[in-house]
Amino acid sequence: MLDDIQRELFTKEELAAIVSRIGREISWDYRGKNLLMVSVLKGSVVFMADLMRAVTEPLSIDFMVVSSYGKGVKTSGVVKIVLDLNIPLEEYDLLIVEDILDSGKTLSYLREVLEARNPKSIRICTLFDKPERREADVTPDYVGARIPDAFIVGYGLDYAGKYRNLPFVGVLKPEIYE
Ligand code: 5GP
Ligand code: MG
Ligand code: MG
Repeated sequence: MLDDIQRELFTKEELAAIVSRIGREISWDYRGKNLLMVSVLKGSVVFMADLMRAVTEPLSIDFMVVSSYGKGVKTSGVVKIVLDLNIPLEEYDLLIVEDILDSGKTLSYLREVLEARNPKSIRICTLFDKPERREADVTPDYVGARIPDAFIVGYGLDYAGKYRNLPFVGVLKPEIYE
């Protein structure tokens, strides 16, 4: 598994520092609100688990599964909700928790779907952002780190279902997916 990584981009310690910084920002911003953190599975599972413990305000969590990638490294543009939330959202200040924002197609679709359910507020938190690759109009409210255009894995992020368990984030060798 480690042989497939070209270079490490974020160490375990760097990721922990990023998560605790975002956790502090969210804790401050959501004082007195009714925070519902919605994790978009599966990629954000590790980030979500760490981030929720870095937030010091009361909160609820829920999960959604969306699929758009299949085995490739680019979003098809067709986003499918595989597992939906099953609670009304009117009472909640919603925070969508994503692993990475790339073309933005996934999040712009998701945001539209969730906005239509009239939450009190809706914001987006993404661990990584590749702003150069944006095609859809989405701006995240919380960003862990902006990264260049390379395909990364680890800390929840996969290629073809693998590498999610790496404790660091690395760039996958292009020959793995080319
Ligand atoms: P978008 O719809 O913004 O193009 O794609 C977002 C989704 O694509 C992410 O939630 C993630 O699942 C996947 N994705 C985008 N870039 C990367 C990457 O560099 N590595 C991995 N593992 N997944 C990515
Ligand atoms: Mg994702
Ligand atoms: Mg994936």
